[in-house]
Amino acid sequence: MSTASLSEQDRSRRALCHPDGQKSCGACCGMYNHRQTAEPELMARLRHRTEAFRREASIDDAASLRAFRQKWEDPPEVKLLGELASCPFLGLLDGLDTRGRVGCLVHPLQNDGVDGRDCGVYDRHTCEDYLCAAHAVLKREEVNLVLAAVPDSYLYGLVITNPRLIRTFFELAATERGAYPQARELSDPAVVAAAAEFFSLVRSWPYRAADGIFGSVVPGEGLETHRRAHPAGEGLRQPVDTLLIGLGTRTLSQPELADARGLLLGAVSRFARALG
Ligand code: SF4
Ligand code: SF4
Repeated sequence: MSTASLSEQDRSRRALCHPDGQKSCGACCGMYNHRQTAEPELMARLRHRTEAFRREASIDDAASLRAFRQKWEDPPEVKLLGELASCPFLGLLDGLDTRGRVGCLVHPLQNDGVDGRDCGVYDRHTCEDYLCAAHAVLKREEVNLVLAAVPDSYLYGLVITNPRLIRTFFELAATERGAYPQARELSDPAVVAAAAEFFSLVRSWPYRAADGIFGSVVPGEGLETHRRAHPAGEGLRQPVDTLLIGLGTRTLSQPELADARGLLLGAVSRFARALG
């Protein structure tokens, strides 16, 4: 890979994986690949692992890294996707602050240039080169709005890896107001606040299925996934239902469906009105 393309990739990685000093994404390291996906348990797991890493492992001692991996790597039965790697070296980067950044504890930038990623579930080249689909799919203005509206790593990783949810939110608001949101409109504090309200639903969606953390992607056996079924079964579809599916919604009764659609349409309308 040329120097030019490397620096381009570095810029891109900073833009989505580690976009600012407040939050970051650990999704492709396996952050959410666990049957216990509730935020308190998930962040507590990262905290315990980070504490243990500081106590038990040393970046200069490959044997200690291998022993750490053996002890802390999740077995298939506790993962949502049993065959998908979940790296025990993903931890907390800002001390033990669970509201701060998540990231690779054995990355050279965390360890004065020493690289321990070959002891992880992939190898250093895979870790370095992988970029998820969001990098190719999301528009700059969509990314900027997510960055402004999402405050912490738990929520950020779930939102930024769900481009369809972000795009649909924009499109529904565009339909309601008759124009696609422009970049200059999206920095208005009222617009950011309305977007923050919508994205917060990803954290607290009351109708999320037990396996709904990956949104429209339903984990199956091993590495197998399939697309989430419509929450209303064979009932009539509405455009807002794409958001329902993107939020990992379980099967709903008719009253629940009406309530869920109402919550989402309300959030979209408030965003559209804030855009003016
Ligand atoms: S899932 Fe995407 S945004 Fe998140 S860390 Fe991986 S490559 Fe970066
Ligand atoms: S070693 Fe690779 S997979 Fe593991 S936490 Fe670091 S970057 Fe992620």
